[in-house]
Parts: sequence; structure tokens; C-alpha cells
Amino acid sequence: MPENCLFCRIADKQLPAKIVAESEHALAFHDIAPQAPVHVLVIPKAHYASLAETPDGSVMAAVSELAKQVARELGVEAAGYRVVVNTGDDGGQTVHHLHAHLLAGRQMTWPPG
Ligand code: AMP
Ligand code: ZN
Repeated sequence: MPENCLFCRIADKQLPAKIVAESEHALAFHDIAPQAPVHVLVIPKAHYASLAETPDGSVMAAVSELAKQVARELGVEAAGYRVVVNTGDDGGQTVHHLHAHLLAGRQMTWPPG
């Protein structure tokens, strides 16, 4: 794992996080600065700097499967939710370990900022 990668350290349970769910290859935890009533981050346990670095679709498959499960478990599936993967500078990515934002609990707006 790359040293000092925040989300690798969370995945390794070296740093505390409010974990919501876990699968073999992915981990879901509450965002530290929630932008909606439900704001959960879903990461692959293995390090990929961004979506652009993933070798194939299996990484996002594990992430989206866990996001779907979390939406169900947190009771927002029926009302709906948004899944966002900020990628690179223009995408607004600030943490360079691939993560999907699961946002729910209010009406989302479009276009995004
Ligand atoms: P992004 O801007 O897409 O790279 O998103 C990074 C997200 O990580 C932001 O929503 C932050 O609030 C969140 N974040 C940063 N540090 C932590 C942390 N230690 N635990 C949980 N979420 C964090
Ligand atoms: Zn990492």
C-alpha cells in the first residue's frame, strides 16, 4: 500500500472510520464532511489512485455492488440516491484513492457544481 494514503490506512483499519459495510474487496464508511443526510464513501480495499488507474471493470463492480447494498441497508433505495466518482483535477478529486460517493436523503440537483 502506498505510504500515507488516507484511504489505504482506513481500509487497513489503522485509522478510525465509521464503517457501514464491508465486502471481500470493498469498504463503505461515512464521509467525514457529509454533503447530504446520507453521505457514504465506498472504496476498493486495494489501492488505485483513481478510476483511470483501474485495470478492468472488476474494481468498480465491487464498489458499485457494495454501494447498492449500503443504499438498501440505509433505507434510501426507494427514494433514490446518487453515486459519484470524482476523477482527476477537473473532476474535483482530492483524495487519490479511488472512491465512490453515495449521496442520499435529499433531492439532488443537476447540473452538479
Ligand atoms: P473527493 O473530493 O471526491 O476526492 O472526496 C474526498 C472525500 O473524502 C471528501 O468528501 C472528504 O470529506 C472525505 N474524507 C476526507 N478524509 C476523510 C476521512 N478521514 N474519513 C472520511 N471521509 C474523509
Ligand atoms: Zn490508497
